[in-house]
Amino acid sequence: MSLYSNTLSKIEKACEESGRSHSKPVLIAVSKTQPAERLAELAHLGQRDFGESYVQEALRKRTALAALGWAERGLIWHFIGPIQSNKTRLIAEHFDWVHSVDRLKIAERLAAQRPAGLPPLQVCLEVNISAEASKSGVLPSALPALAQAVAKLPHLHLRGLMAIPAPSADPASQHAAFRHLRQLLEQLRAAGLDLDVLSMGMSGDLEAAIAEGATHLRIGTALFGERVYS
Ligand SMILES: *Cc1c(COP(=O)(O)O)cnc(C)c1O
Repeated sequence: MSLYSNTLSKIEKACEESGRSHSKPVLIAVSKTQPAERLAELAHLGQRDFGESYVQEALRKRTALAALGWAERGLIWHFIGPIQSNKTRLIAEHFDWVHSVDRLKIAERLAAQRPAGLPPLQVCLEVNISAEASKSGVLPSALPALAQAVAKLPHLHLRGLMAIPAPSADPASQHAAFRHLRQLLEQLRAAGLDLDVLSMGMSGDLEAAIAEGATHLRIGTALFGERVYS
């Protein structure tokens, strides 16, 4: 079985076990470091959502995919990497989603730079739920104020939350981290924000993420094999 169909069955099985057969998460194929040909292979198998962490690399591959005929065939591009201020314009112009907004200044730049002819940029706020392990992400204590401010910006549609928990092989701690993110989303909804996205779950913890309510999985290694950084 191919890595792709193997991953789809894993997701299917986890959905059944969590009683989610009718509300499956979106699979985002995290294609950073993979050449355009690998993306085209998955696109031919029906994959539509792709996640990239480096702007220039993503744009190079999209040019290559366009040459292979994939420009107008509905691929959906998610930016999931750390965002430097000098990269916001390219992200605003070329991506459909951004999962890694963690400060107001970046959101304001994306809002100002989103071209008027495009639909709103779909935005998730990245939360630092394992504070010691990661430098990126807003701390849970600062999340409500950031969410309220981002929700008011034009040309952006705030959809929900994203997190990259500290890697753990222990299902109990995987569940705890994802449950924490879900509770933070529920608190924002209780405060009046209309949010529907939990972007959580990678190759090593997708079952726990599905059980805790992930709406978007970001999966690389399980789909493409180990990444090789050059
Ligand atoms: C690389 C990456 C992933 C995919 O991780 P895998 O373990 O390869 O599935 C998911 N999310 C983000 C933000 C990433 O940078």
